[in-house]
Amino acid sequence: MANEAITLEHLGIEVQTPENFVFHNEGYMSFSSFLDSICLNRFGRRATYREMMSYSLARFDGAYFDYEIEKSGQKTKHAHIFVSTEIEHLSPLNLFTYGHEETHLILNNIPHGKNLLKKLLETGTNTGGFEEITNEETLADLGGFACLHSKKIPIGDLQNSQWHDFLEQGKKFEMLEKPEYIEALDFWTKR
Ligand SMILES: [Zn+2]
Repeated sequence: MANEAITLEHLGIEVQTPENFVFHNEGYMSFSSFLDSICLNRFGRRATYREMMSYSLARFDGAYFDYEIEKSGQKTKHAHIFVSTEIEHLSPLNLFTYGHEETHLILNNIPHGKNLLKKLLETGTNTGGFEEITNEETLADLGGFACLHSKKIPIGDLQNSQWHDFLEQGKKFEMLEKPEYIEALDFWTKR
């Protein structure tokens, strides 16, 4: 399977995928449908009760997941992303989450993916010290901020109603207390 160009709508970029790679952009769906979709593609069956339960403690607003399938000696990598229908109508949290998952996709699969992310960040913030950030969740949150910035939402501006909405929506998913999120916000808003 040759390389193909895919558009990552929320980051606003087009990238060339590597060879033997399939991207499954699942869109908005429930987490159980997402697990079903992965299991159908990977094993030709739906997710089992045990598989569903093994994830039941976590609350997903979105996810990135990848694996390899080997057929007649040929390995193909598959990568899936989804965003939960729970936040489909919660704007701008839905945009942030989509940008976050698309960033996992480029960091894990696109050569120089981290450089691509840096270029996106340069449109909205000072990227001094970017190379020192190695935590993938922090980088993915920065991709989420780049998406919000492209929609003209000022990151960290408490006077702005859309930023205010984002903080309120994020509280439900406990994302605002995560150290990776705080690191990303500090990085974006530093002077
Ligand atoms: Zn993530």
